Amino acid sequence: MYSVKEIYKTIQGEGAQAGRTAVFVRFSGCNLWTGKEQHRESAVCNFCDTDFLGVDGLNGGKYLKEELVNKINDLWGSSDNKLIVFTGGEPMLQLDAALVDECKRFKFETAIETNGTINIDFHIDWICVSPKHGSELVVTEGNELKVVFPQDGQEIENFSDLSFDYLFLQPMDGDNIQENTQKTIQYCLKNPKWRLSIQKHKLIGMP
Ligand code: SF4
Repeated sequence: MYSVKEIYKTIQGEGAQAGRTAVFVRFSGCNLWTGKEQHRESAVCNFCDTDFLGVDGLNGGKYLKEELVNKINDLWGSSDNKLIVFTGGEPMLQLDAALVDECKRFKFETAIETNGTINIDFHIDWICVSPKHGSELVVTEGNELKVVFPQDGQEIENFSDLSFDYLFLQPMDGDNIQENTQKTIQYCLKNPKWRLSIQKHKLIGMP
């Protein structure tokens, strides 16, 4: 069974697919942080702003494959331009070829937002990797690389030659969002192969 924190329909706010309607499936659990505040300081990834613990969110629960895709399809509610974004937590802890194939049967495009530490050995239509400093990046190709900026010790130029169609820098949210946004803008202005990604869904009050 798949452990899912929440499932909801929204507007994708980030990256090259921003503006597109999508059903987001947030899997429970991550391999870079337990999700518990007492472990944040010692976690590999310690700036996370997502609650991925448990299965108690909107439409959350433990699902069999067919149940999960039926739920997603019910939430979509039409037949056009169908898109699922698998996120987390770290979705590659649970996502597999069988679930992606079942989504295809319902004519969904499938996308993943991953930290890139677990190899993806099946086809998925859109791969977005957001690397976290201090972890080993094993997914080095895909559609978009979305780097949260700045991260202490991270050398952005190390990513420039990876095989992604789009390179995005996204200001780190939190208390320093204004300062981080300015730093990100300045970096993009000096290094135009990087594009600015803003979390537009937050601006319009979407989840
Ligand atoms: S890798 Fe992603 S989901 Fe995991 S702790 Fe970091 S930001 Fe959160």
